[in-house]
Amino acid sequence: MKVTDPVCGMSFDQEDAVATVEHEGTEYHFCSSDCKEEFQENPADYAD
Ligand SMILES: [Zn+2]
Repeated sequence: MKVTDPVCGMSFDQEDAVATVEHEGTEYHFCSSDCKEEFQENPADYAD
């Protein structure tokens, strides 16, 4: 299943995600720990 990194917009297979974060009941997948950290600093900027 393809997922999209909400920070950088890259899409990749879910199994290739480097990091996964749950925010308000939705899982977000990230290509790198940098993207994950950026999301966690400002989740409201990236969450739907
Ligand atoms: Zn990314």
